[in-house]
Parts: sequence; C-alpha cells; structure tokens
Amino acid sequence: MPAHTVGLVLQTAHASLACQEWSGATQPLSTFGAIAARPHASVCCASPPNPSTSPSARSPSSTQVYVPSHPLCKHWLAVARNAAAPPPVFRSALAELGRNLIYEAVASDWLPTIDGQVDTPCGTADCSFVDPTRPVKVVPILRAGLVLLEQAGTVLPQAETYHVGYARDEATLVAKPYLNKLPAALSADDRILVVDTMLATGGTVLQVMADLVARGADPANVRLVCAVVAPPALKALGERFPKLKVYAGMIDAELDERGYIVPGLGDAGDRAFGT
Ligand code: URA
Repeated sequence: MPAHTVGLVLQTAHASLACQEWSGATQPLSTFGAIAARPHASVCCASPPNPSTSPSARSPSSTQVYVPSHPLCKHWLAVARNAAAPPPVFRSALAELGRNLIYEAVASDWLPTIDGQVDTPCGTADCSFVDPTRPVKVVPILRAGLVLLEQAGTVLPQAETYHVGYARDEATLVAKPYLNKLPAALSADDRILVVDTMLATGGTVLQVMADLVARGADPANVRLVCAVVAPPALKALGERFPKLKVYAGMIDAELDERGYIVPGLGDAGDRAFGT
C-alpha cells in the first residue's frame, strides 16, 4: 500500500468524515501539518481534510482523531463489540484496547522527558527518562472510563488519577456530574489524558473539557482516549476545542434515537459491570 492513501470516507447525516490511512515510516503527515503520526496510525478529521490547509487554518469543526490500525486494537475492539461477551470478557477487551490506545496517545513528544546517563556493566549510556516530577494527570470518566484505564499502569510509569463521574438522564440524554475529584488548579503545562469510553453526543466530555480549561488546563496538552467515537461528538469538540487530539479504537457512523453509537458497543458501563 502506498505510504499516503486516503483510506476511508464516511458520509453521515451529521458530518462527512475523511480518514487518511498512513502506513509509512514515522514522519509528519503533511495534510495535517505538524501532526506527527505513528506507524500503524490513521489520522482523521471530522471535516474533509483540505490538503492545502494547515491545522491552524482548518475548519473550526474539525477534530484531530487518531485511529490506530494496529491489529491488536482491532482485535480487542472486535471482542468488545460482541453482544454475547460476558462482563469479564468485555472488561478485559476494553482494558487491552485502552492500554494500546494510551500507548499511542502518550507518544509524539507529549510525555515530558528528561535526559540523563546510566552506567551499564560495560560503560555509560546517554538516556532519556519519563520525567518523574511531571506525572501525567489521568481523568477517567466513570463508569466505563475506569475499564479503558485499567491497564494504563503498564504503559505509564508515572500518573496521577483524578476521577470524574457523570450519569446520563435517559429522558434528556444530558449527562449530570455526581463526582468530581479534579484538582482545584491545573497548569497549562500539565499533560492530561481524559479517558471516556464512548463519545456519542460529546455532552459529557464537553463538560469535562470546560471544567479542565476553567481550572487552567491548555486543550493542546489534553489527549482524549476513547473506544468508539461518533461524528456529533467530534463536531462539537472540534468547534469548542480544536487543539484537542482524540485517540480512538474506531469512528462509527451514527447514533440511534436513544443516543447510542451504532454499531458501537451498547451501554459500555452496564456491559462492563453487569448492570
Ligand atoms: N454511552 C454508551 O455507553 N454507549 C453509547 O453508545 C453511547 C454512550
């Protein structure tokens, strides 16, 4: 396959999605300006990409979405999608998907590092370490975000976890907060990973992002990790937070009348916890 091929174009009622498959070596994907994609990653926008525009000149409704094409991501998403998977299988599939997505999300010069030297048995090596003084702040959105986060400790040497909980009113589909453990103040320099399993309308994550920014966070240093995302949420996020980057297992085409992603995963919280 050529290094740069347009892999997927989805037309939906809400937005047209263009997804640029990228299977080449590590280098910036010129269509998206300074975005440095990793091997096996696809880079997508919620609006059709225009090869002549840089990220800063993009349509305000475009969201930067990375969909890894790694076979393990596809495998664990497929296991989770199966309606017959019992809660323990669903949970472990999402945890593995989350581990792989988080690995992708913290790459590309985002994780703070420091240089140093290590004495090996045979000499001295110049080394780079994850900076222990600047731990990543992880924000799981309960309930299902907890599951996607479960294996994060195996890929993040340093992290602090700040839980937030939102429950959806099934009549209005509006999410209401019931738990907020965010620190009172954040710094624009903080690296923040928000973990929300399903991005459907985007109502919950928009509230969380607004809260993070109100406390001092810079959306350019926030990365959002999701199992499945849908166009309405991507459009809303792109309009409010164009510098936010999203790492997702898949972009699905639409929502049903109850606000569930189709084909999606169903109610991820209920499936994870057997409720
Ligand atoms: N939340 C879920 O758990 N599933 C959806 O499809 C949408 C929101």
